[in-house]
Amino acid sequence: MKIGCPKEIKPQEYRVGLTPEAASEAVAHGHDVLVEAGAGRGAGFADADYTAAGARLVDTAEAVFAEAELIVKVKEPQAEERRRLRAGQVLFTYLHLAPDPEQTRDLLASGVTAIAYETVTDRDGGLPLLAPMSEVAGKLAPQMGAWTLQKANGGRGVLMGGVPGVPPAKVAVIGGGVVGTQAARVAAGMGAEVTVLDTSLPRLRRLDEAWGHLFRGRYASGGANAELVAEADLVIGAVLIPGAAAPKLVTRAQLATMKPGAAVVDVAIDQGGCFETSRPTTHDDPVFEVEGIMHYCVANMPGAVSRTATQALGNATLPFLLALADKGWRQACADDPHLLDGLNVHAGQLTNYAVGRALGIDV
Ligand code: NAD
Repeated sequence: MKIGCPKEIKPQEYRVGLTPEAASEAVAHGHDVLVEAGAGRGAGFADADYTAAGARLVDTAEAVFAEAELIVKVKEPQAEERRRLRAGQVLFTYLHLAPDPEQTRDLLASGVTAIAYETVTDRDGGLPLLAPMSEVAGKLAPQMGAWTLQKANGGRGVLMGGVPGVPPAKVAVIGGGVVGTQAARVAAGMGAEVTVLDTSLPRLRRLDEAWGHLFRGRYASGGANAELVAEADLVIGAVLIPGAAAPKLVTRAQLATMKPGAAVVDVAIDQGGCFETSRPTTHDDPVFEVEGIMHYCVANMPGAVSRTATQALGNATLPFLLALADKGWRQACADDPHLLDGLNVHAGQLTNYAVGRALGIDV
């Protein structure tokens, strides 16, 4: 099959849909791999890495879209890319159609078959193509929090690990799922005193068994949240209620109880954020201050570490990509109900119930 990988064109997107390693696997499976020149540059992959992997370089995105039967990307196709999609072509990428009627309309009109990373499932009910980005954002959160706490960046001038004779920073992580666990591990590894708050007892039990030696878990009652937020130098927001906006767990009034110059990193900002005072920011201007508290609220945190994020995403997408290319999408989805869960659009029809419900379109 002809697999095409264009360069991402969404602003501040430096990841790429196909690593040279993945390209080499696809070539070994007998596929013809086309990569737009410069596609991997933002993630630190040179054109030569792709040609060494057996891929063909093409000069323009237009040529990739014109020739490829299967397009692999990172971000949802932008308007200019959507105009190039056609019936019979398969698109494999993050789509996030539920809040995006305009994109949905264009994909339906194009006749493309679109499989969305974010709705592919695994046998434990997890989302295997979202999890790697949560791992990246989780591990990055304490790093950005530590930076935000530095005096020159507006923070209270506290070092995460302290030094002998001086106590470390206190870190509260609200939500102990994929993001929260990775954030707590890294914060504890930096030497901070870490508590993870979660409303799920099974989750707290698992955290205690695996990581009880590194950080504490606490049931996320309103009282516990208020107490730990007031004491914290850094609060990391990492809650998720599937299919819903993040609950506002820290109010504006509560900021007054916090230490001046304390930092919050609201990783849940892509779902609206779990601090009342959060608003999305970008890598160019990531931090703002409200009531003396520094807020880091970047909605696409993995973009800051585009190389690691590309590799992590590539590891997770590769088996599905190979199945789609080896068998064709129909057989691949027939063989794997979890990949079938990823099917959002086919031949002018919306094929995912949750997305249809959100958009008010019959499925
Ligand atoms: P997850 O489902 O693995 O974990 C969420 C956790 O929140 C669960 O353990 C759940 O029990 C807990 N929770 C739910 N309600 C709670 C409450 N009221 N109080 C305390 N805990 C509560 O989800 P995840 O993959 O860790 O994602 C967390 C958030 O991070 C999501 O909003 C996700 O979209 C976001 N995210 C953002 C970025 C970014 O770049 N900003 C990147 C990846 C993920």
